[in-house]
Parts: sequence; C-alpha cells; structure tokens
Amino acid sequence: MNKIAQIFKTLDYGPAPEGPEQANAWLDAHDRKFGHFIDGQWTKPGKTFSSDNPATGESLAQITDGTAEDVDAAVKAARGAFKGWSALSGYERGKYLYAIARAVQKHSRLFAVLETMDNGKPIRESRDIDIPLVARHFYHHAGWAQHLNREFPDAVPYGVCGQIIPWNFPLLMLAWKIAPALAAGNTVILKPAEFTSLTALLFAEICERVGLPKGVVNIVTGEGGTGQAITAHAGIDKIAFTGSTDVGKAIRAVTAGTGKGLSLELGGKSPYIVFEDADIDSAIEGLIDAIWFNQGQVCCAGSRLLVQESIETRFITKLKKRMETLRVGDPLDKSIDIGAMIAPIQVERIKDLMKRGVAEGAEVYEPDGALPAKGCFLKPALVTNVSPANTLVAEEIFGPVLVAMSFRTPEEAVQLANNTKYGLAATIWSENINLALDIAPQIKAGVVWINGTNNFDAAVGFGGYKESGFGREGGREGMSAYLKPAWEKDLRPAPAAKVAEAKAGNPLDASHLDQTAKMYIGGKQSRPDSGYSRAVLDNSGKLVGEVGDGNRKDIRNAVEAARAALGWASTPAHTRAQILYFLAENLDYRRDEFAARIKAQTGHDGAEEVALSVERLFAFAGWADKYDGAVHNPPLRAVAAAMIEPLGVMGIVAPPSRPLLGSIALIAPALAMGNTVVLVPSAQSPLSLTDLYQVIETSDVPNGVINIVTGDSVSLAKTLAEHDGVDGLWFAGNAEASTMVEKASTSNLKQTWTSRGLYYDLADRRFEGDYFLGKATQVKNVWIPYGA
Ligand code: NDP
Repeated sequence: MNKIAQIFKTLDYGPAPEGPEQANAWLDAHDRKFGHFIDGQWTKPGKTFSSDNPATGESLAQITDGTAEDVDAAVKAARGAFKGWSALSGYERGKYLYAIARAVQKHSRLFAVLETMDNGKPIRESRDIDIPLVARHFYHHAGWAQHLNREFPDAVPYGVCGQIIPWNFPLLMLAWKIAPALAAGNTVILKPAEFTSLTALLFAEICERVGLPKGVVNIVTGEGGTGQAITAHAGIDKIAFTGSTDVGKAIRAVTAGTGKGLSLELGGKSPYIVFEDADIDSAIEGLIDAIWFNQGQVCCAGSRLLVQESIETRFITKLKKRMETLRVGDPLDKSIDIGAMIAPIQVERIKDLMKRGVAEGAEVYEPDGALPAKGCFLKPALVTNVSPANTLVAEEIFGPVLVAMSFRTPEEAVQLANNTKYGLAATIWSENINLALDIAPQIKAGVVWINGTNNFDAAVGFGGYKESGFGREGGREGMSAYLKPAWEKDLRPAPAAKVAEAKAGNPLDASHLDQTAKMYIGGKQSRPDSGYSRAVLDNSGKLVGEVGDGNRKDIRNAVEAARAALGWASTPAHTRAQILYFLAENLDYRRDEFAARIKAQTGHDGAEEVALSVERLFAFAGWADKYDGAVHNPPLRAVAAAMIEPLGVMGIVAPPSRPLLGSIALIAPALAMGNTVVLVPSAQSPLSLTDLYQVIETSDVPNGVINIVTGDSVSLAKTLAEHDGVDGLWFAGNAEASTMVEKASTSNLKQTWTSRGLYYDLADRRFEGDYFLGKATQVKNVWIPYGA
C-alpha cells in the first residue's frame, strides 16, 4: 500500500508539536524563580517549592510559598488601593479591563503554551478554549464596570476580596474571579494552586504592563496554608473559592460569623443523560468532550453516563470504538486528545479509587495502546456493572474515568441524575426537545446543557446547587456576587429582646375557653413531641398564652412535610400569587383580632403591623410571577435560559420583635418563589403565628407548604442548620447564634442569611423587593442549541 492510501486507512495523525521556546525564554528571563506580586512590586523569592511539568516531570520554576506575613502585606496593599480604585468611574475601570483583555489576546500563545506546560492539558484546549474564554471574560466585564451604577444602583463593592483557585483551569479560574471583582470596584488577593502558578504570574506582568494601579491585583502564591491565611485574615471582606467540597466546607466554617461575603464553586459528579431518541453519534462526540476534556479534571465533567436501556448495548459498543481513537500523549502536540494528569499524587489517587470500585464489582474498559514512558498519563476508562453505591459512582474522581449506568424511564433518569450530593451540571441528549425541556427543570444542578456539553460563556452564570456550592460566576449573577447593598453599612445592633419575668400565680384569662396552640405541620395542628409547653408573657410578665415547646423531632416532622410539599415549586407562579393574595385578604379580614393579639403580647398598638403584614403579602404576591429569569445569547448557536428556581425547603427563624410582620416579611418572599417553609416564629411572641393557622387553612395553601414550630429559636435553628433536608436557612437573632447557624450549616452547605445581631427593620419597604427574593432563589442556566 502506498503511504497516502495507508494514511487514509489508518487515519493516523503525524506529530504536530507546539514549540516551548518562548515560554522557556520567559521562564529563563525570571531565572525560573518567582516571588509574589504585591502592591505592584515583585517580592524577593522566599521559601520555594517546585512547579513541575506533569508531562515530563521536569521542574519549570521555583515558586514562593506565601506566609501569613505575605498575605498580610497583600491585604494592606489591596486595602490601600481600594479607595482610589472604587472611586474611579465605571468607564475608567472598564478601560483597564479592556486593556487586560487586549493584552491577553496579544500574548495568547505564550499563555497557552505556559499553561499546557504547567498543567499538562492539551495545547488544543488551552489555545482554543481556556485563553479565548479568559479574554472574553475581561471584555464582558469591561462592559459591566461601565454600566454598574445603572444596573446595580444601590450596590457597593465588598472591599478587599480573597480569591483561591484550583489547578485545573488556572488562568480561566483567575479570570472568572478577578474580572467581576475589579469591575465591581473591589481589589483582590489571588492565590493560584500550588501546582499551577505560572500563568497567574504572567498575568501579574500584564497588570503591570497595562498600568493597573498598584495594589488592585495582588498575586500571592503558595500551598493550602497560604489559602488558610487568606480565609482567616480579618482584613478581607469577601472570600471567593473554587476547589474541592471538603475545603469549601472548611472555609464555610472558618468564615462563619465573620460577616465576610462568601461564594463557593465546588466539586461535581454530573450526569450525562442519553435518551433512546438521541442522535447517538453526536451524543458520543459530546460525551468525549464531557468526560475527557482536560483529562476529566473538570468540576462539571459529565462523569456519570446514564443511557436509556433500549440503546445501551449499541451506545456502549460505539463508545468503546471511539475511545480506541483517542490519542493520549505529549500535551504540546496539537493532535493529542488527552494530555497529562496534574501530578503523580493525582494519578495515585485515581488508581486507588479504581481499585476500590473494582473490589466493589465494577468492570473497567480501557482501549489498547501504550502510554508515554514517563509523565503523569492515564488511559481513558469506562466503568460498567456498577450500582449507585459503588465508590466510582458516588465519589468525584476528577480524572479520565466515565461510569456508565442505564435507566428505563425519564422518571428513573431524573432520579438517578439527582442521586448525588453534588449539583453542578448535567447534560441531556434527546432529539425530542419537549422531553429535554421537561427533564431540565427537574435536575438539581446549576447548569444544564441540552444536546451539547461544557459550554461556557462570560455572560452566562455558572455555579452549583447542593454540595457543589453557592454563588455564580459570570453574567449578572456573577456581578452581584461582588456587590452588597449600600445600606448595610448603616445597620446598627438590634436592641436586646426584653424577657419579662413571670408574675407569681399568673392565671390565664378565664373568660374564654382555653386555647391550646399546637405546632402546624403538614397542614395539621399537632401536639409538641416533647409534651412541654412554654409560657407566653406580655411586657409586664403577665401570662397571655402557652405554646408547644418544639424539639428536634418536631423539626424533623416539619421538614418531612415541607419536602413532601415541594411540588409547590412547580405550581404556576400565578397560582402562588393568588394564594398569597388570598392569605392577605383573610388576614385583613381579621385585622382587629390580630392587632389585639399583638397588643396583648407586646403592649404596642398592633394595627400598623397587621396592615404592613397584609401589604407585604400583597407585595410578594405581586412578585411571584415577575421575579423571573433571562435569556442570554452566548457567542454560539444557542440560547441560555437563566431560570430562577427556589432553594427547596427553607428554615426561617423570625426575629423576636414584630411578632407578625417579623415572620410574614420572611416567609412571603420564600413562598412567592416556590420554597416550602419551616418557620420558627418569635420565641417571645409566637401567638400571632399560632393564630395564623386558621388563616392559612382558609387560604388554599397546600398542606406542608407552611409549617410552624414554636419553641426556643436558637436550639430549633441549630436543628434546622444541621438538617440535610433543609436547603436554605434564614436566622434573625444575635451574633453568637448567627455564627452557630453558619457553622452548623456546613454539612450540606445550605445557603444561609443571618442578621448577626444587627437590626433589620423589616417594616422598611426596601425589604419588599429583590433583597430576600434573591436569597430565596438560585439560578439554573439551561443551554439550548438552535439551528438545523
Ligand atoms: P482543593 O480544594 O484542594 O484546592 C483548591 C485551592 O484551595 C488550592 O489553591 C489550594 O491550595 C487551596 N486550599 C487547600 N486547602 C485550603 C484551605 N484549608 N484553606 C484555603 N485554601 C486551601 O482543590 P483542587 O485544587 O484539588 O481542585 C480540584 C477540586 O476543585 C475538585 O473538587 C473540583 O471539582 C473543584 N473545582 C470546582 C470548580 C467549579 O467551578 N465548581 C472548577 C474547578 C475545580 P493548594 O492546591 O495550592 O494546596
């Protein structure tokens, strides 16, 4: 056979190596040794560690391990720069971001080659995906800087942001963090991952070159300890972290009670669902990208294949055939599909996980062919014959390992897809758009790709549900993560709740029949599990009633009822609005009685509070069908529908003051957005809420949508915080208990809002708007391709 005919037959590619010369020259120019970039200056290298090329094992450079003193110097520099940077006009800040984008493009090949050498990812990916997306991110955020005041009129930047990123997309994660932070007027200290600091250091040079004011961007390199010094630093106002769920939880615990802003982009175990009517060849190509992009070291990797049983055999056979053509090797070769893993330790970790999975019954397929003799390489692997409990199905592997399972019905696909503690991304493959769009809202994940995978864009928010974290990066949501309300700085400590002493004897008013206020769970009034009651006293200590003393079991029952009622989220917004209006109407009808009850408990005339409560229900009834999403137009033939979804089950612990409004102002936005609620009303004055049961029952509120447990606010809040069936928790109370709530919420990383002992005047109409609506919701971006 002649050579050309042979090439046609094998379709082999020749080598197409990218030269490392320029990147090596840049490293040499720095003597292959780097300090930090702090306050616009390069520090002398301190104690260093080696950054190695994982494809060759060779050391590329020595990187300084940042100390607590280095972090402190960077925080001082960032603080010093904040005033000037945040005072610049949006246009001025935008021009710097624009200049950075331009500079990244001008040096794009140097960035791409350096990234590939440092990280091991194929040059095809760093050149065609990572670096172009970096530039796009800075361009996009130049626009946000300029339009900030118009789009976020009452918002101010946090101040100094500490940003910690992982090694899998070093420069891209840097861009996702730095671009929105700077656009919003913050200054930053960024720590790259120890394995991959080089492009962040090259980026620091770009900052110098574009004349970015000193101290606006500070790069402190180092290991986990440097990250800890950042998260613990009292001078930092917001932490933005991307990395593993374990470290994310540790950071949640460290920042609890500090008032620091926090966004967490964590791990995933994303499902890749293929229905029997899918275009199989396209679905297989998509799957190759989903799991073998960046060697599977991708937080949103489609690592769990769920394929409909009727096509399973055909699909797996084709997939294996396609896997045989994947080329593993030198990442600087432009025709390589799979490059090097980040480090030997990661290779060992994956091999260990594989051993465990196999011991539990998994079967592993790997295509033939040899791996390069040296370097951190792994073959692509397909794992079958697994149950949902197998380690390889449950754990994030963060490597080139695909786990395959099958399903019979769409319901089963959804159930399997959601059977994970993570919720970052999902892919749905079907030629039936009705089916795909039916499934997408049912998947608990922050991003859903239909007939595509791994689409990213600066205009489209990215981030997780459940233990994949909270907060979004990109788009409007990403910008709002770097801003806070201007009025927050004026908040003052809440006055201590008055606790009256019970009068001796203290009989209840005997002119009425005894009223026993119970719990309200699943639409029924039920006795407290404890069998204990709590006295409700007025200001003078006179007994005005008794309520059940709720405990852990009552909360568990209430959460179970609230979970069973989650269908509330798919009740049309119009219907939810009607029910909230109806609640308002029925409350208004009995306003005198409620006003009298407020007076009896607090001594204050309750008429105004009842009127405000009715108005607040009206306000959020009005919002129910208006606070909705957007459609983004990313630069490809697709739209991304940013859908606003409820958190799920919300625990709400009302403040001691304003017995009725304090609860209504918090539950109304949660309910309007489709959450179900477990409410703990004011511990001092709970009778306004136990009176509300009858209003709820006459207002068509489905059973389980509102559950009310009376008792001690702090101990009930703790139970709610520790409960994995609670997705979000709002707590109005003192600073110490707020810290406890945030700390106890780490187990399932539920989203929290706490008042930290500050006085939020819930009567203020500023709370009629998006402040609580935003906190009651999360955004899911569904990518829908179009075109024939
Ligand atoms: P890690 O969580 O180990 O590290 C992430 C960063 O945090 C690194 O810079 C690390 O430093 C630093 N760090 C480690 N310990 C601490 C600590 N106690 N306090 C503060 N900072 C600390 O994750 P990996 O680097 O191993 O990255 C892989 C993980 O990241 C995966 O779970 C993946 O899913 C997730 N990820 C999530 C993404 C998302 O957008 N949701 C995107 C990319 C990755 P150092 O490494 O230098 O020791």
